[in-house]
Amino acid sequence: MEVKKVLWPTDFSSTAEKALPYVTDLTQKYGAEIHVLYVIEDMAHHESWYGDFDRPRVDKLMEWAGKSAKKRLDQVCEKYLDSCPLYIKHIAVGDPAQEILKLIDNEGVDLVVMASHGQKGNYRFGSVTEKVMKNSPVPVTTIPVEPE
Ligand code: ATP
Ligand code: MN
Repeated sequence: MEVKKVLWPTDFSSTAEKALPYVTDLTQKYGAEIHVLYVIEDMAHHESWYGDFDRPRVDKLMEWAGKSAKKRLDQVCEKYLDSCPLYIKHIAVGDPAQEILKLIDNEGVDLVVMASHGQKGNYRFGSVTEKVMKNSPVPVTTIPVEPE
């Protein structure tokens, strides 16, 4: 198995960070790149539920979300990954699981390492982790984290 690119998706929760020791360890052993991805959930797909959105307001909100995501991603990487030789930051907009799967294809990711849960942590697996596990063309290592 060749491991050149490892993907660590994060929702910026402390739960997602539980996967980090595995990510840094594995990438060190394989001499692989770390790809970090945060997905801004797109509000547009809720539109049919809540009626028409005020587009300019949504656009403004998304612009703010983009800026704040970039800041938080920078902070996380600086805090945890600065000693890693190579990491690449990604921000996407859309459905988290779909965007994770897209990045796997587009970047040629070899391995995904992610926590079983995220922000909410209600069930055995979070819905994003479950969708990625079920649909990923490459191995997914899930780190078991008990919901707090
Ligand atoms: P829920 O299904 O209710 O959202 P949850 O928040 O506990 O439950 P998930 O959302 O599946 O569980 O989160 C599990 C993992 O999926 C996170 O640790 C993270 O790696 C990834 N993930 C979740 N949301 C995002 C996101 N917006 N961007 C990137 N990765 C995400
Ligand atoms: Mn979640």
